[in-house]
Amino acid sequence: MRQRIAYLEKTLEDAARIDEKQLADDIKAAGFKCKKCAQCCKAEYGDNTVSVFPREIRRICEKTGLYKEGIATPTPSEDTDSEGNIHTFEWVLRREGDCVFLKNGLCQAYECRPRICKTYPFYLQEGHLMVSECAGLGEEISDEDSKKIAALLKERYITEIKESILLLERFRGFKPGGMGNICVHDSEGEHWIYSPNIQYR
Ligand code: SF4
Repeated sequence: MRQRIAYLEKTLEDAARIDEKQLADDIKAAGFKCKKCAQCCKAEYGDNTVSVFPREIRRICEKTGLYKEGIATPTPSEDTDSEGNIHTFEWVLRREGDCVFLKNGLCQAYECRPRICKTYPFYLQEGHLMVSECAGLGEEISDEDSKKIAALLKERYITEIKESILLLERFRGFKPGGMGNICVHDSEGEHWIYSPNIQYR
């Protein structure tokens, strides 16, 4: 565990040095304009899982007035402890097929949507720009918008690394002992919840 944390701490140092201007140039070269097709939010076009961190969940709760249970659900998992409780890492936006916030093709949480949504179809891996499938790729993007996405991407990447470090520092393994039958491990520790359907996956 210590080795993994040390690796992430080094990755965090590298992340802080990411050249935002270069990143913006790379985004501009890839080109992007959101076509508002909402395919990334819909189930019929593939995996529409959106990971969401505790602080993002709280922000969405504040802005929408919804409870956490209405927004986020444990990341699907098949890992269990010795008593059959399910263990998982982090949360995902609740879906009913499509994301619960998608109504009539529009995001009802647009202003406070998670960083993943704000930066889609881009993400950083080992500090390098990666691109997911998206109909808006290859379209002309302004300097201002490419800079904005670059800044958000860097912030998202740093946040993801920090979350991982905190999660590992609090992680005590897949052990029973909480009040519930599903345990979500995140940067704030263990969250035990009860699901009547232990077949949850
Ligand atoms: S939060 Fe909004 S942008 Fe993100 S997946 Fe849901 S509907 Fe789409």
